[in-house]
Amino acid sequence: MAVQTVATTTHSADTVDLGPASALACRECGERFALGPIFACEACFGPLEVAYDLPSGDPEDLRKRIESGPENIWRYAPLLPVPADVAGKPNLNPGFTKLVQADNLARELGVTGGLWVKDDSGNPTHSFKDRVVAQAIEAARAFGFTTLSCSSTGNLAGAVGAAAARAGFRSCVFIPHDLEQGKVVMAAVYGGELVGIEGNYDDVNRFCSELIGDPAGEGWGFVNVNLRPYYAEGSKTLAYEICEQLGWRLPDQIVIPIASGSQLTKIDKGLQELVKLGLVEDRPYKIFGAQAEGCSPVSAAFKAGHDVVRPQKPDTIAKSLAIGNPADGPYVLDICRRTGGAVEDVTDEEIVDAIKLLARTEGIFTETAGGTTLGVAKKLIEAGVIDPSLTTVVVNTGDGLKTLDAVAPTTGMSAVIRPNLDSFREAGLA
Ligand SMILES: *Cc1c(COP(=O)(O)O)cnc(C)c1O
Repeated sequence: MAVQTVATTTHSADTVDLGPASALACRECGERFALGPIFACEACFGPLEVAYDLPSGDPEDLRKRIESGPENIWRYAPLLPVPADVAGKPNLNPGFTKLVQADNLARELGVTGGLWVKDDSGNPTHSFKDRVVAQAIEAARAFGFTTLSCSSTGNLAGAVGAAAARAGFRSCVFIPHDLEQGKVVMAAVYGGELVGIEGNYDDVNRFCSELIGDPAGEGWGFVNVNLRPYYAEGSKTLAYEICEQLGWRLPDQIVIPIASGSQLTKIDKGLQELVKLGLVEDRPYKIFGAQAEGCSPVSAAFKAGHDVVRPQKPDTIAKSLAIGNPADGPYVLDICRRTGGAVEDVTDEEIVDAIKLLARTEGIFTETAGGTTLGVAKKLIEAGVIDPSLTTVVVNTGDGLKTLDAVAPTTGMSAVIRPNLDSFREAGLA
């Protein structure tokens, strides 16, 4: 087990135990730093990520160890930046959500090679954000933070509020003031502070960066800013689960929504780790990124052949994905190009249609982010970019109950009748 001395001493314990995590490494220049609450390289300002001493030895032993672990993300603790005894700490223990074999949807879309929906609406606060917060909160504990915070497009605020409540942290989270009621209520109900910012997510994020450098934010762990390297690792568990649930096999194609792009890059990292560890057979896979047309900076760059992402001002119903200046945009472009995938976007109308398509075919009610992902999958299948004869996984990251407004205008009761049979017959439903 790696025990590291922390570089900064202000808000941290002298040593931290984060399991197999051995250092932070710059994604740009490779410079390494001791594990601590830092997120940018001192040499080149590039983003830092967690580097590991991954388990060596017989992959069969590791596979058995994972399979006999708890039915949540901690079954993968040997591959995550958390202490060995993490499963015993108060945590929402998210993960191991259903991988739904979507045969009805496959038939409708003409997919013959197998279509699955990884349904992360089944997490404790109904989005994939519980996975990343679960990692960040363990890092926050190790570094001695007592207040948890974040800049959020909605789901993250709820995930932080809930995790903080359970683990005994104070929380104070920041969101754009004009989010859906479902997200606001879910972020507030856990009893922490919830602050609406007059501006969009990019304004919220900029404000949080200022707060970190100010005495007012002293002792605060911002899960997606100064704890971002640890937070981001949580998304690897989506890759692990998908492969394990497919019978320790890589999917051929995987469609993932993009907000900051963090999740997409870490699913790729997770898939690569499984190959390196010998847990799955090495074969090519393609990663596809999904955005809403009203916030499509990465899709626009992909289509234009650019390496840099030009910021946009978001205007879409997919508010969970409304990040106009995505931090991981260039890495997403790299991954989608390297694997032979693509980045595509869909209109708000296509998002609503896809939400209803998934509900109608598979009984899964997704939020606008999931509508975006399925909408893009459908568009790319129809365009022949996604091969219908190969296995495809669509990642559903959130729950439709949080974005009721998106479908409310076009759904409703078939009829309102008096409580008698004549009235029912008159309605033509018999
Ligand atoms: C945050 C979020 C995403 C995207 O996450 P990134 O890692 O920032 O790209 C996707 N779907 C939902 C529902 C989210 O809340």
